Amino acid sequence: MPTRVGGAGDNGAVPLYRDDAIVLRTQKLGEADRIVTLLTRENGKVRGVAKGVRRTSSRFGARLEPFMVVDVQLHVGRSLDTVTQVETIGPYARPICDDYGLYTAGAPMLEAADRLVDAEREPAVQQFWLLSGALRALAGRDHAPSLVLDSYLLRALSVAGWAPSFTDCARCGAPGPHHSFSVATGGAVCARCRPPGSPAPAPETFALLAALLTGDWAVADVADQRHRREASGLVAAYAQYYLERTLRSLRHVDRTVPVPAHRPDLEA
Ligand SMILES: [Zn+2]
Repeated sequence: MPTRVGGAGDNGAVPLYRDDAIVLRTQKLGEADRIVTLLTRENGKVRGVAKGVRRTSSRFGARLEPFMVVDVQLHVGRSLDTVTQVETIGPYARPICDDYGLYTAGAPMLEAADRLVDAEREPAVQQFWLLSGALRALAGRDHAPSLVLDSYLLRALSVAGWAPSFTDCARCGAPGPHHSFSVATGGAVCARCRPPGSPAPAPETFALLAALLTGDWAVADVADQRHRREASGLVAAYAQYYLERTLRSLRHVDRTVPVPAHRPDLEA
């Protein structure tokens, strides 16, 4: 439940609530306003109006950019709530947007979170912590950006109910390791359950996928490029399948070649 700062009761106070939030996307509204889509910890996905934020004098415009983790106060509106206060918790927008490799890994995370959490005003505690942790790791360059993305996608999909299996057979549960991978079946498949045409990734790729799913960075960080690429392809296919529509931004992730940094326009 939202923390009510002022009650909606007889005293006529405006109902307010406060929550931790990650800015997923923004849209222009009128001359100076913006609609921000937030993944909040206690209220799930929230769309709110941020008034005057596109004016240069705005106090909190920069805090409401995609990738920012903030402590936000909103006042309840009839259709959209209005953002009344914003404090920065994780200033990740600048480091991520200033680096092409970080940005192309980060954008699909925001997009996936947007798809995985509905605007039902229910707590999204696990999804919130997963995404804020992944953005912190990305901005801090703790691991290769593509590994952070792949680990985030696997874990976010698992929380949403689509946990893959990379060891035991995803269909019959026969103990692994197995040789084949089937996106539609849910990961590793044994010789009997294997649908025709299933790819057979390298054993090291299965080990990397399992490490990304559990957050075993000691294993993931030392995986070689070939297995990272193979794992990334499988994660992208898995994510696309279970998000039921193409993650547009996944296609732009360059997982190998460093590219000069620039700042993409984040506005829709
Ligand atoms: Zn099986």
